[in-house]
Amino acid sequence: MVVIMKQGFTQAELDHAIQEMRNGGVKVMISRGSETTILGAEGNAQNIDVEKMEALPGVERVMRVSEPYKKANRKYHPDDTVVEIVPGTAVGGNKLLVVAGPCSVESETQITGIARAVQGAGAAALRGGAFKPRTSPYSFQGMGYQGLDLLEKARAATGLPIVTELMSTDDIDYFAEHVDVIQVGARNMQNFDLLKRLGKLNKPILLKRGLSATIEEWLMSAEYILAGGNPNVILCERGIRTFETFTRNTLDLSAVMAVKRQSHLPVMVDPSHAGGQAWMVERMSLAAIAAGADGLIIEVHNDPIHALCDGQQSITPPQFSALMEKARRVAECVGRTM
Ligand code: PEP
Ligand code: MN
Repeated sequence: MVVIMKQGFTQAELDHAIQEMRNGGVKVMISRGSETTILGAEGNAQNIDVEKMEALPGVERVMRVSEPYKKANRKYHPDDTVVEIVPGTAVGGNKLLVVAGPCSVESETQITGIARAVQGAGAAALRGGAFKPRTSPYSFQGMGYQGLDLLEKARAATGLPIVTELMSTDDIDYFAEHVDVIQVGARNMQNFDLLKRLGKLNKPILLKRGLSATIEEWLMSAEYILAGGNPNVILCERGIRTFETFTRNTLDLSAVMAVKRQSHLPVMVDPSHAGGQAWMVERMSLAAIAAGADGLIIEVHNDPIHALCDGQQSITPPQFSALMEKARRVAECVGRTM
């Protein structure tokens, strides 16, 4: 249930409405937006009488919320959430966030070189996997802690914040201290133990959509992190598994629009894992911006043919620069900046 307060309500009216809701057995979340103040019921609101609530002074309207996600729901929080990554860099506002870098960290020269190149082209954060979720146990598994050290060196060299994937709850404390944005990969979207632990941090979490997750399942995973007390959730559409085999996954841009409507959380798009082919990345990036995405996360490699992971979908720094030029123009067309 959400209770929308009238413009100009008094503190006494607000307190009264909150008390009535508590008497009905729920916890009350207060969301003060730019135009409206909303009270959200957390818990079972079945015992609260909608008509009685609506008759209270200062109350404009009362709505039952049928969706199972509450804190992630736009009805509870009408304004867009802006997640600050580091001071001066955010996602969810008018300015789009572009994160770029290799699938995996491979060496100091590789990661620092790519960081400098993508920064020159306008990326505001660096990606790079150190712990890799590979389908085969015989494939390169990432450099682990050594890879995180190299990401930190690249951050020191460029000032770019770093985004990297966490796979195990064992590593949470280390990530919380050393990483700017913790990525939860598609394969861990429903690792509820991991999500609960991330809810206890105050770090931005980039939550990728699971390979076959519905929009509701994805938002319920975000809800785990939000319910734990961490409001800094960034969603990322990275393609879903469909019957199609030509592409690695199918980029679901309709999900970007649906999620932006249903939720206040920022949504990014990963065109690299979606199409799985370098030649598709530019057009899918432009389409994502046109569809309302708040940012992009793109795989860029200096030598894609020899990349240890995902080379076929990685674009080169010059291709990334060309993409950014076009992206700026599309962003302008849809009233965004880069
Ligand atoms: C990645 O970002 O390199 C990655 C493994 O992504 P996903 O979890 O979306 O497959
Ligand atoms: Mn990858």
